[in-house]
Amino acid sequence: MSTAPSLIGGVSIDEICRLAGTPTYVYDAAVIASNVQRLKSAFRTIPVRFMYACKALTNTAILRLMHSLGTGLDTVSIEEVHRGLHAGFTPSQILFTPNMISFEEIKQAVALGVHINIDTISVLERFGHEYGNSVPVCIRINPHIMAGGNERISTGHIDSKFGISIHQMRHVLRVAQSQNMHINGLHMHTGSDILDADVFLQGAEMLFEIASDFPALEFVDFGSGFKVAYKPDDISTDIEDLAAKLSERVHAFNATRFAPIEIWFEPGKFLVSEAGTLLARVNVVKQTTATVFAGVDTGLNHLIRPMLYNAYHHISNASNPMGTPRVYTVVGYICETDTFGWDRKITEIREGDVLAFSNAGAYGITMASNYNSRLRPAEVLIHNGKASLIRRRETLIDILATEVEIEL
Ligand SMILES: *Cc1c(COP(=O)(O)O)cnc(C)c1O
Repeated sequence: MSTAPSLIGGVSIDEICRLAGTPTYVYDAAVIASNVQRLKSAFRTIPVRFMYACKALTNTAILRLMHSLGTGLDTVSIEEVHRGLHAGFTPSQILFTPNMISFEEIKQAVALGVHINIDTISVLERFGHEYGNSVPVCIRINPHIMAGGNERISTGHIDSKFGISIHQMRHVLRVAQSQNMHINGLHMHTGSDILDADVFLQGAEMLFEIASDFPALEFVDFGSGFKVAYKPDDISTDIEDLAAKLSERVHAFNATRFAPIEIWFEPGKFLVSEAGTLLARVNVVKQTTATVFAGVDTGLNHLIRPMLYNAYHHISNASNPMGTPRVYTVVGYICETDTFGWDRKITEIREGDVLAFSNAGAYGITMASNYNSRLRPAEVLIHNGKASLIRRRETLIDILATEVEIEL
């Protein structure tokens, strides 16, 4: 990661910029495929499904790619469900895991035939009242496992809005039994990074323990938490170690059951983060008394992770990979504090150079906005050595299209 890429998926960055302009998000399909393959091979000895958490990157071309690679889909809104169906997933390949949505939206998802995941007791009660045992349902549990990670992303803590607390299981059982409900899955997604397989296994153990109360269980879903390395010295989840330990436990658990349960995961950023690069052009190099700023033609409106989560994205100069390294603070063009990286060592930056922001595949374009009335970027997919535009750059007409003009 220390040297600047001049190629993405075998296509030169120059060519990508000629095709799509800047700023542009570029995704390498081969990286996504190899991440899917790595998971499949690590968990090959157990019955397993990977439901791609599509809020990370939702372009239809990416969804179709995932479908061709054999993943299912984890969705968090009815709109994502529709996009999954539009991309060719069948309802049974889609899991709907919403939080704080209207019951009306849950009914729409039931009507579409996707798997439903419920994370609130009152909603579970209402679901049982409405559907009895005619529609199976999965329950999202909060095991209060804190495996580390960013506190703004973590969802496993005691006062999290996500999931039904493991301490409320007796209440859940009472609801499920009194309404004769068909509970087909148990789910946990703590939002924490799995850095320690043993901490994760503790959570898994809690789910296996309560699983014995649900005879009709078909799957246990462990959510995500697969951490990817952003900085060169970051630790990422040791997938193979986790898989070996969990698989052993799953084999033992399934030996006790009449019908084996499937294990589901919902990786989002693990599958797409490293596959994505944001390319942006340097508008201005500005020397102040203390700092040299490199100002690019993008900002927190297109990649909000640095400002929102203090996330690190490696930045390199694709136009001058052999230049002398110097120290720059890379900033965006938005009229707010809009910093991508402080005091970064980058090969000499000249106005007009193209900078590459690494690990931008997840929560990049999907969190982009039109702040400052800026147009959202184009997206390009590199597949089999060929670059294709998968989203054109917005125009001002797109932005104005939803406004309603009135007489004043
Ligand atoms: C966001 C989300 C994921 C994916 O998380 P990543 O950190 O991107 O892997 C998985 N499951 C649920 C329910 C989510 O909300």
